[in-house]
Amino acid sequence: MVGGPGAGKGTQAATLAERLGLAHVASGDLFRKHLREGTSLGRQAARYMDRGALVPDDLTITMIEQRLGEADAAEGVILDGFPRTVAQAQALDAMLERLGSRVSAVFYLDVERDELVRRLSGRWLCRANSAHMYQAQTHPPKVAGRCDYDGAELYQRQDDKPETIKARLEKQLPPMFEVVDYYADKDVLHTIDGDQPHAEVTDSLLRAILAPAK
Ligand SMILES: [Zn+2]
Repeated sequence: MVGGPGAGKGTQAATLAERLGLAHVASGDLFRKHLREGTSLGRQAARYMDRGALVPDDLTITMIEQRLGEADAAEGVILDGFPRTVAQAQALDAMLERLGSRVSAVFYLDVERDELVRRLSGRWLCRANSAHMYQAQTHPPKVAGRCDYDGAELYQRQDDKPETIKARLEKQLPPMFEVVDYYADKDVLHTIDGDQPHAEVTDSLLRAILAPAK
């Protein structure tokens, strides 16, 4: 699943995983799990993160490879949050080839830059559980500033403030477009209009996934 921040990758990947019985492998969650459990890979990653450096691609690839070996991944996975660069896409392809597998389809959730800014600047997170996410316009909490699930305080991440969002997109979108082109060249890309209500995006994704292979 490829898309800009705020395009809805995470929520769509979770929905699809449930509908299709596939594992949802979010690279961010995978990192956090390794960090939390203090695995060898987690400790290696922490050494980079602690000094604000990027985790090297081969470390992430190793985490994903390990994850693909787990029982619930046997039928395939929906990868979310990785790859973000062409170098990562190439490393992923090389690893999958070693396993006799491949990226069978890439779904690009296409959302205009201005719409991403609007969505991200309205994003509110729960202090108690970062999976509890709200969006001021499209998915507001029932009580302003309070989580629907646990009543905890909602807050905006520093980097979800409008002034920092545009700068972040300037940095993140160009490499993402290169990834989109990379998979278009491999003829596995499906572009999905991400500027529709959640259920309609899901339907578009399912239609693309279940369509007969080219
Ligand atoms: Zn909550």
